Amino acid sequence: MATMNCAVCDGKTKKVNEIRIGKYRSDSVKVKSEFYRCTDCEETFFTPEQARLHTRAVKNEIRKRDGLLVPEEIVRIRKKLGLTQGELEQLLGTGDKVVVRWESGKVIQGKGHDNVLRLLDRAPEIGRSGRLMTPCISRASACCGKRKTARSVAPTPSRSSRIFATSIPVLPAR
Ligand SMILES: [Zn+2]
Repeated sequence: MATMNCAVCDGKTKKVNEIRIGKYRSDSVKVKSEFYRCTDCEETFFTPEQARLHTRAVKNEIRKRDGLLVPEEIVRIRKKLGLTQGELEQLLGTGDKVVVRWESGKVIQGKGHDNVLRLLDRAPEIGRSGRLMTPCISRASACCGKRKTARSVAPTPSRSSRIFATSIPVLPAR
């Protein structure tokens, strides 16, 4: 790799491996990271690749500290359930692309979702039956035929139809 010159003083930089504080949202943890330090002014620099690895190390450290599943484990559990990312999102009631972000490691899942994923890992049949329930959730009227029937059988008369009904003159039979 070509040597990087310092962006501040144009001095020479040296690749170093040190413990640094990394941030994720409002959280911060210490991780060992590789980066460059200027030998003259001591300014430090991350290449895009080093920055990517640093960010990943920070999130992995938070997962380890909080006892959360790593992205690979989430992928494994989802595949065990036989669900697509979208189907797992629907089952967990998360927003769109949330599982996608968990699996890519971009976003760390909360403790609640982490617990549910662990339960599904132990009892995958629950997740599989949840998948079967999905069409019912999205097409509630088709499932809840009872409620729909009750409404159509006994419609609440509107004000205008009541007036109309009582104002019809009763014609004498001929
Ligand atoms: Zn410098």
